[in-house]
Amino acid sequence: MNILGAMQDWEMRTSLLIDHAAREHGGREIVTQWADGSRTRTTWAGVRRDALKMVQALRRLGIAPGDRVATLAMNHGRHLVAWYGATGAGGILHTINPRLFDDQLDYIANHAGDRVLIYDAAFQALVDRMRPHWKTIEHYICFDSGEHALHFEDWIGAEDGDAEWAQGSERDPCMLCYTSGTTGHPKGVLFEHRSNMLHTYAAIMPQCLDLDARAAVLPVVPMFHANNWGFPWAAAAVGAKLVYCANNDAATLCRLMHAEGVNYLAGVPTVWLALLQHIEETGQAMPPLTRALTGGSAMPRAIIERLMRHGIRVAHAWGMTETSPIATIAFEPADYDDRDLDGQVAVKALQGKALFGIELRTVDLDDPARVLPRDGKSAGALQVRGLWVIRRYFKAEQDTADTDQWFDTGDVAMLHPDGTLQLTDRTKDVIKSGGEWISSVELENCAVAHPAVAEAAAIGIPHPKWDERPILVVVKKPGMDVTVEELRSLLAAGVAKWWLPDAIEFVDDIPHTGTGKISKKDLRERFGDYRLDV
Ligand code: ADP
Repeated sequence: MNILGAMQDWEMRTSLLIDHAAREHGGREIVTQWADGSRTRTTWAGVRRDALKMVQALRRLGIAPGDRVATLAMNHGRHLVAWYGATGAGGILHTINPRLFDDQLDYIANHAGDRVLIYDAAFQALVDRMRPHWKTIEHYICFDSGEHALHFEDWIGAEDGDAEWAQGSERDPCMLCYTSGTTGHPKGVLFEHRSNMLHTYAAIMPQCLDLDARAAVLPVVPMFHANNWGFPWAAAAVGAKLVYCANNDAATLCRLMHAEGVNYLAGVPTVWLALLQHIEETGQAMPPLTRALTGGSAMPRAIIERLMRHGIRVAHAWGMTETSPIATIAFEPADYDDRDLDGQVAVKALQGKALFGIELRTVDLDDPARVLPRDGKSAGALQVRGLWVIRRYFKAEQDTADTDQWFDTGDVAMLHPDGTLQLTDRTKDVIKSGGEWISSVELENCAVAHPAVAEAAAIGIPHPKWDERPILVVVKKPGMDVTVEELRSLLAAGVAKWWLPDAIEFVDDIPHTGTGKISKKDLRERFGDYRLDV
């Protein structure tokens, strides 16, 4: 006989988060510093009130559950309202990355079938340019000006907020985020209420983001990128203060962090590098940071060490849009306190271990049926599965995960015996020399440890004997110098001899993708005619 469970019926939906934040942490502030330097403030209770008004305003436009509501905006309190308003109405919030190229912007808004677009006035020119191409968008609303479109504040200001959240299943979709993709069109990742809620529970754990009500978080990572690393949801769960900033230059961030008591900053490695440089150059006091979250690309050891010397607890995460995005984090193992600084930095420099809810494995790059051992030596294609991992891209006809739910990440990595993940490359960027893999990440990591190196990228160049050999492309910091010989000896101390690049080339700039990462594809094209001396 089947016995039914006897616990209560709740669907895990994002509206539970904002109800909780407003009820239990209603006075905790959400602060926005705008491009002109002015600051506005709301609270979790205020966000809930405005999100309910937005629910009413969306219904008045005829927006039904499942409809796509797009935003094209930087980080600010009104954008946060839109996250809860769109999902609270049962809609699907589609966060568009304004840095994508026009043909990608054209593709994704039409592919998503967006019905509403809410945008920052700063992107007016982009909106004017793309509007003739966007076939499905019926309503344009502007977050911060009423000049060319309905002003967001007027739009929701016409409502009284006396509304109910949409009801539905926790498996309903609530968010859509496109990944830039190195080949073909961008692909849509469709998050569910449930996957976001489970990701939130995992994210707030002490061994993950370690978020609590004392946290005052400045997420530098854009709200349009990779679910904003989950911060809008996780901060609501614990009642953290959120501080948003329109300008991400180190001087502005630094001043704002001091003024608002920010103790938690989340950004990609370049953000950390710029902040440390600014502090070291100006002699300014370090903001009251206790925690640093980084991810998105490899975090150089040298930066981790400098942050730790400032007494900051560094969290280094790995993930991707397809994993909501946090999948692993370098948390402190049992013997952490017994290690010296070097040993502690070594832990944080790797990509960490799977969170509860996530599983990892690596498979042979040439024979994907062969699962590789966790021996800290065998590098292979990294696969992931778990409670907040993608099964199928939006509107795709087939699952992208296999029948056992393993999703191929496109990353190359090895797993250590204790389960620690070490990323070595992207599948498309690997360098294979004489049948053996060379980690471009390791080479780049070594190079950026030099104080005069701003950015470095290793790519493979065809070689008659070895198939491919690495070259290292380096951008120097303004006004600073370094020679090929200096870099060679730095690398020689860090990597195996046969990994050493056959050439080191200095360039003025390195091409980046729409999400700000180094575009190896463009770099390989740029060096397409390059010949090595053999
Ligand atoms: P996009 O694919 O659009 O650049 P994502 O944020 O989804 O956006 O990118 C995910 C990728 O970023 C991962 O597959 C991995 O290659 C890289 N990445 C993420 N975190 C790390 C990390 N901690 N170290 C090295 N690479 C990382």
